[in-house]
Order: sequence, then structure tokens, then C-alpha cells
Amino acid sequence: MTPLAEQTRLEFICLMARIRINNRIEDRAAEIIAETLDAFNDLRRRQLLPRLEFLHGSRTITAPASLTCPECGGRIVIEIDDYEIVSRRPESESLHVVCENDDTDEGIDAHRYWFSDWHPIRARAARWARRYVRVMS
Ligand SMILES: [Zn+2]
Repeated sequence: MTPLAEQTRLEFICLMARIRINNRIEDRAAEIIAETLDAFNDLRRRQLLPRLEFLHGSRTITAPASLTCPECGGRIVIEIDDYEIVSRRPESESLHVVCENDDTDEGIDAHRYWFSDWHPIRARAARWARRYVRVMS
């Protein structure tokens, strides 16, 4: 093997090792974050406080079962566009409240989202999200 080929081989081995190490660090960091947040919610539960939902990556969360679609009774899905940097609370104005069964892309079973039907659900969903959802990343 020429010196150049040997150097290329070693650089490749080092690159693969760095990728493996970074993947393990990211996996372990995600586990530690999840464990910490679980412990935090355990403490809240012991004090009879509702759990907080922490969003990592995803900006979508299903609302509690007590909030249902006024058109079909399905679960409510909240999409969050923006959040407060310090508190991590979703911005009320940035929330999109939709039904899990509504598939507007297909145009089938599209919901009408009449203001009179949806305004109370949107208000309750926004209140819940502001109180119990935190956007971490
Ligand atoms: Zn629905």
C-alpha cells in the first residue's frame, strides 16, 4: 500500500469513528434529556400538578382527550409555529388547531372549520398549550 493510500485509509477509519462517537453522544444526550424530563414530571405528579409536554424537533402535539373535534369527535392536533424564547411556551397566535381526521390535502372528509364551532376549541387548545407545552428545539 502506498503512503497516500495508507493515509486515506486511516483518515476514513477516523471519520467513521468520529461519526460513531457523535451518534452515541447524541443518543445518550437524548436519553438523559428524556430521563430528566420524566423525573421532572414525576415530581409534578407527586405534587398533584399536571405533566408538562416537552417538544423536541416536532412542533405538533395531540391535545388531551377532553378536547374533541366539533365536527367528527376526533382528537385535536395542535401545530405550533412559534414560541417564546425564554419561557418556551407556544405563542397563542402561532397555533393551528386541527382535527386528526381532517385530511385537507386529499379533499376527502374536509372539515369546514366554521368559526362558531371552532373558536371555543381553539381557545381551550391554546390555553392548554400555553400552560402545559414547552418547545425545547
Ligand atoms: Zn374532525
